[in-house]
Amino acid sequence: EAKSLGSNRLRVYKSEYGENASKRTKMLFDLKAAIANKKLSVAYQPQFRLHDQQISGVEVLARWHHPEEGMIPPDVFIPLAEQHGLICDITDFVMQTAIHELIEADLLYQSIPRVSFNVSAADFNNSQGSERFLHNLAELPGHWSVVELELTETSALLNLEGVKNVLSVLSQRGVQVSLDDFGTGYSSLSTLRLLPIQELKIDQSFVRDIVKNAQDARLVKTILAMAQALHLRVVAEGVESQQQARYLEKAGCEEVQGYLYAKPMSLNALQSFVKNLNSAKAQS
Ligand code: C2E
Ligand code: MG
Ligand code: MG
Ligand code: MG
Repeated sequence: EAKSLGSNRLRVYKSEYGENASKRTKMLFDLKAAIANKKLSVAYQPQFRLHDQQISGVEVLARWHHPEEGMIPPDVFIPLAEQHGLICDITDFVMQTAIHELIEADLLYQSIPRVSFNVSAADFNNSQGSERFLHNLAELPGHWSVVELELTETSALLNLEGVKNVLSVLSQRGVQVSLDDFGTGYSSLSTLRLLPIQELKIDQSFVRDIVKNAQDARLVKTILAMAQALHLRVVAEGVESQQQARYLEKAGCEEVQGYLYAKPMSLNALQSFVKNLNSAKAQS
């Protein structure tokens, strides 16, 4: 009795596992096709200065709309791409698409002073190194200080030599660097010492309970104090409520990003958003 139950369990486990494994294989197959056929897209999430509520930048986020499964979150397809050597193709697509769209729409510089891209460790492994980035940004005129790369502490340290080499070339062209998900990695301070970083993004897990959790509040204040001492800009991620925003402003945080202000949106929606903001400014 017990034995047959056990083997039933095993059979169930096996078939579920088999299903998941073949689902993953199919997803990988579909992702490759989506990349090859340029079926991915990008979303833009504005960031704001707290003191005057103006846009300080946009973060570009990869989107994959699967024809049968609907939207697949980046937390699912980005790690898959990283594991299977596809991430550089995604980075190239995301950077080229966003730069092209933002230039075409005449949003960069005046309306949107900064555009930030998420990059992975493998983006710095590539034998072509900085040349890929130079190619992806080629449509931008002159100095590239409108461009920022968001690295996580973990990905930066996975390939420190590669990251250093590429960043030294890009820094000369003006490209800025932000440490994403700050505080969640394993060696934040040494990363700060080793790389040319201008910005920290406080991870949303610290922001979420900032109003009711004294420990999280103290951690955020500590990050802000450290950033000030090191002359680093700070963006708080995942701001969803007025209380969080007020708390952050009082604590000296200058920039915010989150659903309270704007969700990630298409280029068209971004154009309307900027237009509305500018006309509100003209009226005030
Ligand atoms: P991230 O870089 O930390 O991006 C912030 C994530 O938080 C985004 O999720 C954004 O939509 C979400 N978010 C923004 N405001 C709020 C808020 O107020 N509340 C909550 N709960 N969430 C908020 P998304 O777009 O699903 O991306 C998830 C992660 O996937 C990103 O985290 C980033 O690590 C990665 N990712 C996205 N696009 C790319 C890409 O083009 N390349 C690489 N390498 N990674 C990417
Ligand atoms: Mg990011
Ligand atoms: Mg983040
Ligand atoms: Mg994240």
